[in-house]
Amino acid sequence: MAKSPKSTTPKPAATKQPATLAERLADVRDRIADAAKRSGREAAEVLMVAVTKYAPPEQIREILKLGVGDLGENRVQQLAQRAGQLGEFHSRALAGGDKTIATKLRWHLIGHLQRNKVKPVLPHVSMIHSIDSLRLAEELETQLEKSGKKLPVLLQVNASEESQKGGVAVGAAAHLAEQMATMEHVQIAGVMTMAALDADEKRTRLTFARTREIFDEMRKAKIGGPGMKYLSMGMTNDYEWAIEEGANVVRIGSALFGGKPDDFEDKEEG
Ligand SMILES: *Cc1c(COP(=O)(O)O)cnc(C)c1O
Repeated sequence: MAKSPKSTTPKPAATKQPATLAERLADVRDRIADAAKRSGREAAEVLMVAVTKYAPPEQIREILKLGVGDLGENRVQQLAQRAGQLGEFHSRALAGGDKTIATKLRWHLIGHLQRNKVKPVLPHVSMIHSIDSLRLAEELETQLEKSGKKLPVLLQVNASEESQKGGVAVGAAAHLAEQMATMEHVQIAGVMTMAALDADEKRTRLTFARTREIFDEMRKAKIGGPGMKYLSMGMTNDYEWAIEEGANVVRIGSALFGGKPDDFEDKEEG
């Protein structure tokens, strides 16, 4: 298990970004490896999900060719669309004998999920990080049962206790996890959180440490069994801290693909 070092590390976003995607990926991988080492783990124990929500399709194809196969989107519509496009590209590249392309392409839904979007996302998604209510979990169970599929999902906890943040309240997390653990097709596989946007290092680490405690308590209580293994926390501005606090899944967008482009249409899903 990870130690919790007191060292402070620079925020990666504060440093200048290299020019190419390959270089930025190498830089992120180095930082992940260093942070893992500081917490007494190997780089291979930390899964990087590349968040493609602001990435143009050619950059997504490029990162796939660089061997990254875990991709994250926060909107159902865009995830479904991209899963279709990239899935075809990926199969063709594999069939064509591409040696560097990721062998598996897996889409992670990381943003808020509305119940009426459960059905359309299911054919495309390998993991959902953002389950935050019993009603949503129940709808998921119903739809999964129809297709006979099982799906690993994470429980999103509002550990920063920001009122506008998604996620279940800290005090309600264990109970919801227990309820989800009784479901046959929904497979509770861990916990996800987001730090407050404007939080400093101390508050950010506190949010992560609290989430890690919740995760450890669930595992101690054997909720979800051996499948309960993912602690998803950390984004571009705080993934090194998150790993030091025990994260084994990080969700990185801007550090790989740059920030939100000026012409990005922020469509609301309804
Ligand atoms: C956008 C997003 C990320 C990635 O954010 P960056 O700061 O660009 O790395 C991670 N998690 C969630 C839930 C997101 O919506």
